[in-house]
Amino acid sequence: MMNAPSAPILPGATLGVLGGGQLGRMFSHAATRMGYHVAVLDPAESGPAADVSTHHIRCAYDDQQGLAELAALCDAVTTEFENVPAESLRFLQSRVSVSPDPQAVEVAQSRIREKSFFVDNGIPTNHHCLVSSVDQIADAFAQMSGRAVIKTTRLGYDGKGQQVCNDVAEMQSAFESFGAVECLVEDFVAFDAEVSVIIACDFAGNSAVFPLAENQHRNGILDLTIVPARVSDVVAQKAEHIARQVAGALNYVGVLAIEMFVTGDELLVNEIAPRPHNSGHYTMDATNYSQFDLQVLMMCGLPPVDITQHSPVVMLNVLGDLVLHDGFSWQPLLGRNDCRVHVYGKSSARHGRKMAHVNFVGNTVDLLLSEVADYRAGFPQAF
Ligand code: AMP
Repeated sequence: MMNAPSAPILPGATLGVLGGGQLGRMFSHAATRMGYHVAVLDPAESGPAADVSTHHIRCAYDDQQGLAELAALCDAVTTEFENVPAESLRFLQSRVSVSPDPQAVEVAQSRIREKSFFVDNGIPTNHHCLVSSVDQIADAFAQMSGRAVIKTTRLGYDGKGQQVCNDVAEMQSAFESFGAVECLVEDFVAFDAEVSVIIACDFAGNSAVFPLAENQHRNGILDLTIVPARVSDVVAQKAEHIARQVAGALNYVGVLAIEMFVTGDELLVNEIAPRPHNSGHYTMDATNYSQFDLQVLMMCGLPPVDITQHSPVVMLNVLGDLVLHDGFSWQPLLGRNDCRVHVYGKSSARHGRKMAHVNFVGNTVDLLLSEVADYRAGFPQAF
């Protein structure tokens, strides 16, 4: 049950966020700029979100005492992290306004629930099936079209817990290497492009859609986001339509990301995230409001604003690989006219860890892509 705030929550109030990573940090920046206080619930001693927020409740996501403390402090609560137990969200919801609804978060927590939700609601997605033991793999693989992807149904992210397989033996060993847990097997999609839509929905059913983002991944991790996306108007309209369909079917409140594969004029939904998304970080420097601003407005019971893009943008993700590269320094990036740097304040860099992102903003996407390529050329082992 949605529990909308009884009146709009205004600056001076306290907003809660579950999760203490970079998404919580950027939420906190947006909220504090608008005059709200922020309380972060996160088990770590410190971290990207806690470091920039008014309150830090340090406990596990299922700690009732900590959750009760958060509910008592806050006028509304949201999440930056979809693996928060739905039970915890329900507990909070009995005391304070929570968005998105726990039911929507639950759908996004499991790849199989997500896929069933797409199928049940007529949302296009790729061919798939479920496997829970190694002897089901041969049959599952035979149902695919020669190349398939195996993904753990829960807790996979940034390319972890998934593998592209070209034959049964390869899939069997991937399944074993994931600990023989329940997995989704899906067709490999030879897509022309990957795109995502960020949509923000209020409690009254109004929504705002951010411009379509074109995404390029490396090793399963988002590498670049390009906006405007280089796709046809037909594809852009279809993507927006699908995003509204997904949000509508979930009765969604808050910021939702929908990732899709584009093949010709056809779109298939890959997955959704019930929160701001890495592919929406471009909105911090290229649109009138950012996805984090909208997360704040939506949870506060305020209406969505019309989104306009003021500049073409290319977002480059900065992983630990770049930060650890010989000769890397933040300094040259901080001195450039064509980009804005967002560093997450993580204590240490590791291979594949998201450390920061840089929005290259300028007149054309082509020019921005060549600036990004020139920048990368200085760090040949990082990309
Ligand atoms: P995911 O965790 O499902 O978002 O997957 C991460 C990335 O792996 C996607 O953004 C794609 O680049 C790639 N990928 C995942 N599933 C497939 C698929 N079925 N076919 C082709 N590429 C895929």
